[in-house]
Amino acid sequence: VFNFSAGPAMLPPAVLRQAQQELLNWQNSGCSVMEVSHRGDEFMAVAEQAETDLRQLMQVPDNYHVLFTHGGGRAHFAAVPLNLSKPEDTSLHLVSGSWSKGAVSEAGKFNQPKVIGELTQKDGLDFMQQPSAEEIDQDAAYLHFCPNETVDGVAFDWLPQAGEVPLVADMSSCILSKPIDVSRYGVIYAGAQKNIGPSGLSVVIVRDDLLGRAQKYTPSIFDYNELATTRSMYNTPPTFSWYLAGLVFKWLLNEGGVAAIAKHNEAKAACLYNAIDQSDFYRSQIHPECRSIMNVPFQLSDPSLDDLFLTQAAEQGLVALKGHRFVGGMRASIYNAMSLEGVKRLVEFMRDFERRQG
Ligand code: PLP
Repeated sequence: VFNFSAGPAMLPPAVLRQAQQELLNWQNSGCSVMEVSHRGDEFMAVAEQAETDLRQLMQVPDNYHVLFTHGGGRAHFAAVPLNLSKPEDTSLHLVSGSWSKGAVSEAGKFNQPKVIGELTQKDGLDFMQQPSAEEIDQDAAYLHFCPNETVDGVAFDWLPQAGEVPLVADMSSCILSKPIDVSRYGVIYAGAQKNIGPSGLSVVIVRDDLLGRAQKYTPSIFDYNELATTRSMYNTPPTFSWYLAGLVFKWLLNEGGVAAIAKHNEAKAACLYNAIDQSDFYRSQIHPECRSIMNVPFQLSDPSLDDLFLTQAAEQGLVALKGHRFVGGMRASIYNAMSLEGVKRLVEFMRDFERRQG
């Protein structure tokens, strides 16, 4: 089966096989990794190795902390304002889709959010325009954005010209998909269930000088300073998820790291978008400059064929292609673990479906 789910999404089969083998007898302990103390030497070694490997993969500078914590992506819609702002502070936001919009609502509980850029249209297609430097209020506590919108399939490569205002990026659906310069960001956070591991785990990368700004009422479990000081062991961390994330990081290193996986991702995305663009039967609503290489929503010219498309695709082992309920149509999520073969099989099926129904 080729699983195009947007998340929880497919993991590398080699990782799942290793986890299966180790489930009942991890490191000859006679137990699984989820049954041992998070403070024991064995688990601490797993935790440290995962952090070292992630640092290597993303070239994380030494003045950044890497946290493995709880609550997926959404927890950090709240944790970011609770760590970086006071109630009277302004937080700036770019809204390029559903998730960055959700982050604005949550921030509104803790500070004064201001939207300085929204999805617009260019050539009749969805497009995200970079805000000008003048639109970025230098007194703001931070600027939040989502470089890859999972639901809408909108992505952008540019970074806002924010001066001294810390950039905060929700990278839940694009982390580790291509190289980025971590030193340009204040905080990067991601729910794990796309390119890292099981849902519920969050990975946070936070610059040193942003720690210690949390409010008195910030729950300790969300306080990045508390988590950094305790090496993410303020409470019992999601140990199995952390272990599995570590296996995924090792897999990525063996695949040649983030630069290599980026080439693979570009090839998969090109294959799928070419198939969409070459046909009148399929259509993408996203401007080519803002198309995600992770989540590819597309529409059939005749939506009454949607159900038939999904049923016949599933019969061929191509599953979880139904678009998000906000967008409709189809969505193929092609995260790091999806093979080029999977995408080629989807494209073959699309062409065949068009021949039969078009
Ligand atoms: N941000 C983005 C970009 C997402 O894709 C998602 C979930 O898919 C979330 C946030 C929310 O993540 P979670 O469900 O782990 O809270």
